[in-house]
Amino acid sequence: MYNKINSNIIQELETITDAKNIITEKDKMEDYSHDETVLPHLKHYPELVVKPCTSKEISEILKIANKYNVPLLAKGGGTGLAGGSIPIFGGIVISLEKMNKFLELDEENLMATMEAGFTLRELKEKLKEKNMFFPPHPGEESATAGGIVCTNAGGARAVKYGTVRNFVRAIEAVLPDGHIVNLGGKLLKDSSGYNLLHLMIGSEGTLGIITKATFSVMPLPEASLTLIIPFDNVSKALKSVPEILCKGIVPLSVEFISSKLINMSKDYLKKTWPVKTGEVYLLIILEGEDMEEVEKSSLKISDICMKNEALDVFVAEEREKQEEILEIRSMVYEALKSITIEALDIVLPRNQIEPHLKRVEEIEIEADMWLPTFGHAADGNLHTHMSKVNLKGEIIPDWEEKYEKIRRIIHDDATGRGGKISGEHGIGIVKKEYMNIFTDSTLLKLMKEIKRSFDPNNILNPGKIFDL
Ligand SMILES: Cc1cc2nc3c(=O)[nH]c(=O)nc-3n(C[C@H](O)[C@H](O)[C@H](O)COP(=O)(O)OP(=O)(O)OC[C@H]3O[C@@H](n4cnc5c(N)ncnc54)[C@H](O)[C@@H]3O)c2cc1C
Repeated sequence: MYNKINSNIIQELETITDAKNIITEKDKMEDYSHDETVLPHLKHYPELVVKPCTSKEISEILKIANKYNVPLLAKGGGTGLAGGSIPIFGGIVISLEKMNKFLELDEENLMATMEAGFTLRELKEKLKEKNMFFPPHPGEESATAGGIVCTNAGGARAVKYGTVRNFVRAIEAVLPDGHIVNLGGKLLKDSSGYNLLHLMIGSEGTLGIITKATFSVMPLPEASLTLIIPFDNVSKALKSVPEILCKGIVPLSVEFISSKLINMSKDYLKKTWPVKTGEVYLLIILEGEDMEEVEKSSLKISDICMKNEALDVFVAEEREKQEEILEIRSMVYEALKSITIEALDIVLPRNQIEPHLKRVEEIEIEADMWLPTFGHAADGNLHTHMSKVNLKGEIIPDWEEKYEKIRRIIHDDATGRGGKISGEHGIGIVKKEYMNIFTDSTLLKLMKEIKRSFDPNNILNPGKIFDL
């Protein structure tokens, strides 16, 4: 197994980076012992945290880790929901918090380059100054550039433009043996051999440490509208989604969520929600060249939804109001956190959402376990929250046992419908056991061989995605 951190390692690290960038006291390592995954038994402290300032420093740290056979992993914003940045074997956490500079906005190529620790919130502000934006929006804006690449994050706005993968043009990464490599470029096409850039995207920090990222960005659309459309049940709401897409309308976002969850989130944030009627909402964001174009799509959507018995159509025009609506939707996770065991991240073919949801509703009643489910209606990605409470809101005494059983039944149903176990959060440790069950064994073997060829000593984020 791995060796423990010793004084020789600390001394060598101090020759690489300033001693003030190294933490060895346990009481200062709380932030590095967990991510946003709520299961308390997943928490684990590292033996040492280091906050390097350059790629060269990271390269030297990786060489030391190989020499002494100690595990290490990279941590971004710690907002992950799969336990990917929890140091389950102790060892070293490399925090990217000091590598947080914005490096370049290339307006001609429409690309932005930043260090891996630059946050999504900072990117949004930076681009807004130039009337530009980064379309993917994983809900928690303290996520970092490196983190969103490593999980191939998605979010509510993936319908029109796809996940983070579609926007990553280049990265600088340090491989487990310490080599610094540049993958991709300011290019929109690349057929030059195996695409290792795309192998790195979504690899959850198991193949290399990302130090810089270049993303495609876009001019901020001139016009946008957010529609909140209430229905009295989820089937009517979901029926409208394929009809909207078949009309050739491609919204930036199509979400479905119950009014109960929205109320919990708006109360948590102390904000107001403009719609009072309905049990379930479709939340649709439209953007385009001008208001005429967007309003035309909005009218077509309203017609389709009213035909499917929508109760009303609320339209938000003001940008601040639209941002507030998205914020309330994005923070549902936080509002549910105190009773959540795990937020599932199942992704299904779009036409399987409704039958799967029906099955989840049946399971909810059979098991008497509240399973609030919401998600990205147009891209098939659902977040069922495994909760500790029954349908009356009381804590279930044997919730841990029930949770294991019920989550398996839900995943069996989803994979039986052509679904997969993660649409955007990644596998980390939380869903690792399901990789063996739901992944073709030949493909899993190939994945393990890839990991071994990048990291023969298995020192970089070991025990994540699968066990070697
Ligand atoms: C309230 C809330 C809402 C969320 N909404 C969404 C959503 O809508 N869509 C979505 O996709 N996700 C969502 N997430 C999950 C989370 O924000 C994403 O997974 C995000 O990509 C994690 O980024 P991070 O910087 O926090 O990474 P971390 O949590 O620090 O790490 C995540 C993984 O990436 C690795 N990693 C991080 N940085 C690097 C690096 N520089 N080099 C190598 N490996 C690295 C870590 O080792 C770990 O395996 C949400 C989370 C919360 C708390």
